[in-house]
Amino acid sequence: MTEEQQSKCSFCGNLQSSETPLIVGLEGQICETCVRLANQVVASWGRKREITKPLKKPPIPIEIKAHLDKYVIGQEKAKETLSVAVYNHYKRLAAESEAEAIGMDGESVEIDKSNILLLGPSGTGKTLLASTLARIVGVPFVIADATTLTQAGYVGEDVESILHRLLDAAEGSIGLAEWGIVYIDEIDKLARSAESAHGVRDVSGEGVQQALLKLVEGTSVRLKDKGRHKDGEGNVLDTRNILFIAGGAFSGLEKVVDKRLQPEMTGIGFHTQLPDQQETPGDDVFHETHPDDLKHFGLIPEFIGRFPVIAALEQLDIEALVKILTEPSNALVRQYSQLFKYDNVELEFTPEALLAIAEQALSRGTGARALRGVLELLLQKTMFDLPSNDHVVRCVVDEAAVLGEGQIKQITDDAKEQDIERQNSEQQLQA
Ligand code: ADP
Repeated sequence: MTEEQQSKCSFCGNLQSSETPLIVGLEGQICETCVRLANQVVASWGRKREITKPLKKPPIPIEIKAHLDKYVIGQEKAKETLSVAVYNHYKRLAAESEAEAIGMDGESVEIDKSNILLLGPSGTGKTLLASTLARIVGVPFVIADATTLTQAGYVGEDVESILHRLLDAAEGSIGLAEWGIVYIDEIDKLARSAESAHGVRDVSGEGVQQALLKLVEGTSVRLKDKGRHKDGEGNVLDTRNILFIAGGAFSGLEKVVDKRLQPEMTGIGFHTQLPDQQETPGDDVFHETHPDDLKHFGLIPEFIGRFPVIAALEQLDIEALVKILTEPSNALVRQYSQLFKYDNVELEFTPEALLAIAEQALSRGTGARALRGVLELLLQKTMFDLPSNDHVVRCVVDEAAVLGEGQIKQITDDAKEQDIERQNSEQQLQA
């Protein structure tokens, strides 16, 4: 290698200097900028492969469900319904693109897509199900919040912004974005409320439902390119094959469903038994939801019609909450154990402590969402003390600690402690 060759980056030709150091290889050298660029290129290869590969052969429902089981506890019926819906959706797409490839486009039966509506209380796993599904089939995924959306022309995020974000998630690839999954949260908040049902036009809710209709059913949207095409030219994105999953807590819907399910009792006559006024319907009646109930709840019929698959999620009980704490691969107990491990401390929970944590979370009424808050509060003081306490090797959380009747037990390594004590006394002697 000549002197001249050595002093230039073999890729961009930049000269070696104190600001541009070069990494020298057997046959050439490379500067930092080129290393970074190459890294970006290689990383994008990896991601593209991850996103495109699984679509060629969609996993079958039993595989989808088994994968969901690893991350989502309980919700068996919802998992089954979703597995079938997602399998059918991507089977249809795979068949369509195969037909297109061999020029048989338009000759077979056209199958409509089945968008999905998830009903269930807050913190029961609706978002988790949708995001896990997207990961299984390996498609771009975005979450939109229905309460932040507005009709075009009003101040706020309009519905097309969802597609912009989907395109970003697909790293600018229109083809991939058109096969993506969009999860729209808090869809129940778009329902016409009881007050506005009588006369007042509900701009915020019904208007957004109308604006979403076309998008959900399938339309071509011209996305204005931010900055690049000043003349308004941009990407055209077809939403026909995007799978929309809408979710909401639909609180109050259980009463609508229950009323339909209960036989009419008028209470006239001496021997008539009046229904128990105190009894409130459980959330398992969500499984019986009909499109008509959603109409009574305040969603417009056209909107309901675009979500033919309805899946209900149940309130999580104590047993499920304990499992959520410990079983999924990113379970909270595992996460905190890992955090403690960074300080060389083992974290342990007794089975009674886990039950007590689940009970506290349940009383907060926000499903599994409350678990992190309970744990954070419980472990806060220990996490503050530990890094300055070298000799603790194990922490044990028992029921008393959770109930505030005792402390988290800190177990020290005796040998280590004696060693630290000896060092301290030696230092004192020297002083
Ligand atoms: P929502 O039903 O309100 O969309 P999320 O899916 O956002 O609830 O759940 C909030 C968090 O609670 C999730 O990130 C997850 O950690 C946990 N979680 C909720 N439900 C489950 C479940 N069934 N299995 C495992 N974790 C769950």
